[in-house]
Amino acid sequence: MIRPQALLCPKPEGLYCAPGDFYVDPVRPVARAVITHGHADHARAGHGAVLATPATLDIMAERYGMGFADATQAAAYGEAVDRDGVAVTLVPAGHVLGSAQVAVRWRGLTMVVSGDYKRRRDPTCPAFEPVPCDVFISEATFALPVFRHPDDRHEIARLLRSVAQFPERAHLVGAYALGKAQRIICLLREAGYDRTIYVHGALERLNALYRRHGVDLGSLEPATTTARKDFAGEIIIAPPSTLQDRWSRRFPDPVAAFASGWMQVRARARQRGVELPLVISDHADWDELTGTVDELRPGELWITHGREEALARWAELHGVTARALDIVGYEEEGDD
Ligand SMILES: [Zn+2]
Ligand SMILES: [Zn+2]
Repeated sequence: MIRPQALLCPKPEGLYCAPGDFYVDPVRPVARAVITHGHADHARAGHGAVLATPATLDIMAERYGMGFADATQAAAYGEAVDRDGVAVTLVPAGHVLGSAQVAVRWRGLTMVVSGDYKRRRDPTCPAFEPVPCDVFISEATFALPVFRHPDDRHEIARLLRSVAQFPERAHLVGAYALGKAQRIICLLREAGYDRTIYVHGALERLNALYRRHGVDLGSLEPATTTARKDFAGEIIIAPPSTLQDRWSRRFPDPVAAFASGWMQVRARARQRGVELPLVISDHADWDELTGTVDELRPGELWITHGREEALARWAELHGVTARALDIVGYEEEGDD
């Protein structure tokens, strides 16, 4: 039996596959990379060759320009791609549009790098698919028992109730530009909200990209439109950084909302001046993380980033050997 470390091992640049000579989500420029998804800490510019899903390659081109890598190769979900005898398969991770787990198979050994993932339904991307494996490599962003995300429909209902309750105020929803913003828009549509939703300019290109990939966002307009001066009663989606800056002062007495898994931590909501915290996360919560390990029962669990200790301890108590990799460079807060 081959030792897992012979197939994938942590290096300062990221997880390295020696027999296939590639890195998964390298944090520094490398010759050959496989990218799980388009969030900036996982998908960086400047690699030689990049293998990713078509949507992730599009996202990278949108963010970094066409020359973000010397060469690119798109792989559809489920398609096995050969890298010097190592079979690489991208499998839905349910995190954001294009997000994939990377399944690596070599000489009878299967290792799965989850990237970032969640188990809940997301109208903007296909659901996480569990892959039986010898080693599962997991994120651990919300790996503490206190993190239990509520149903997203419940959070959207709270937003809509607030809109109905304060018709004279605008509702400004902070949401990350890739994934969260589009998911919020889709969830609002599913809840029956069919009015125009106003969006900050920083979201426009990714919204257009999602539409090109078949995600229906309904009627959107720039929040800067001059035709409409009064945003009372409207919903505006903007990057979280705008909640406290000058940009938001154009709106009448706005209700500042923020959609993030971290909004479960009251102190974080207060710190950011968030009046309406919405606990909506694109990461697995404690139950999803432990449930996934329980479902897969891998021979070993490796943990890349987040609250490694708590998840490792849980795994050991449940008979799964666990190991924290301490890979530096993945943001804890950037893309939740
Ligand atoms: Zn991410
Ligand atoms: Zn991440």
